[in-house]
Amino acid sequence: MKGSGRANPVVVVHGGAWAIPEKLWKRSIAGVKAAAIQGYQVLENGGSVVDAVEAGLVSLEDCPVFDAGTGSVLTYDGQVEMDAIVMEGDTMKAGAVGAVKNLRNPVKLARLVMERTPHVLLVGEGANKFGEEHNIHQVDPDELVTEYAKEELEKYKKYSKTVFSLFNKKEQQQYVSSLSDLQSCQEADTSYLKATGLHQERPWFDAARREFSPSFLHEGTERGWVTDLMKWPCCGCALSCNTASDPGQWTRCRDDSVIQELPSFHKGHETVGCAAVDVNGKVACGTSTGGITGKMPGRVGDTPCVGAGAYADGHVGAVSTTGHGEAIMKACLAMQVISHMEIGTSPEESIKKSLNRMEERIKGFGGAIAVSYTGQVAALFSTDRMPWAYVKDGELHYGIHPGEHHVEPYVT
Ligand code: ASP
Repeated sequence: MKGSGRANPVVVVHGGAWAIPEKLWKRSIAGVKAAAIQGYQVLENGGSVVDAVEAGLVSLEDCPVFDAGTGSVLTYDGQVEMDAIVMEGDTMKAGAVGAVKNLRNPVKLARLVMERTPHVLLVGEGANKFGEEHNIHQVDPDELVTEYAKEELEKYKKYSKTVFSLFNKKEQQQYVSSLSDLQSCQEADTSYLKATGLHQERPWFDAARREFSPSFLHEGTERGWVTDLMKWPCCGCALSCNTASDPGQWTRCRDDSVIQELPSFHKGHETVGCAAVDVNGKVACGTSTGGITGKMPGRVGDTPCVGAGAYADGHVGAVSTTGHGEAIMKACLAMQVISHMEIGTSPEESIKKSLNRMEERIKGFGGAIAVSYTGQVAALFSTDRMPWAYVKDGELHYGIHPGEHHVEPYVT
């Protein structure tokens, strides 16, 4: 438990936990390294931990490779709607915004909510209006949209369209006839995928076809995408068993989770986060995101929720999370990590335990960064990759793959 004392200052950042494609690795690593340095320089120049967190996050929000600020992914109707949070450990004050538009740096607005309102979370138009009143510059929405975000939405829509077209009775009938000489559900699935070409375009459908499980069904139903898939003949043995609407038929022949294999737009993105501890052991953290591709307009994820997207307690430490927002909210992931740290568990072990619980109980995946008020630091994830970096004791540490940890001298 906290006494008075000094710590080794640390600024740690992450750039989102998900299956980051190879073409983005280098830029993601460069982005997190630059942001950790930016945040640390603020501490070196006498700034507060909140200033350092804001600087780290602004650097990440301004880097188009990340899903926050410029580069945010798009809602189903092609809009950028962003969520952000800042929390300060000493006072345990927090400020957050949800579904805000036209802002280059939502983290700045979140900080204003913390410092200038009696509230914790403002959303939508009210949040934007509050920003205007406090001279937060609003930008043309197109300025935040990257080609990559547009492509991702197109991919997502193509997927939805394909699935929806299968609601069409005629197509389903044709498929039923083509099944007549097939021996098993498995063959039916494969044949259908081949007929539609989906097996080439979407290797994850292959995995889904093999792996459906009760947890997948549950998770997917809550997330919305299984609603479509349930009516999709090649999923589970639904059509060949002629019980498309009966989840029991799915669960009967599947027993593993496929969440890992799902496309990135269902799982999370390059959400960004930052946590810092200064020389006096003061801590703060923040998280910022455009959410997930193709989300419903108005959807607010875990990021601006205290205890889910971030948590800071001056007696313990500070945490920022990333990953599947709906799972993180239910797991209260950031608070879980802090609770473990509070009873003396190291930040690394605390993140590990919390991610394990989220996976076991909710079938959710993600990552987190944490600092303790004594200056311990950790970055861990249960997804394929998560770019992270921190500066501590004159060194810059970073990695992106599980177990990867590079160290360089910290030079400004
Ligand atoms: N947690 C974010 C959300 O669901 C996404 C992410 O972290 O990549 O909005």
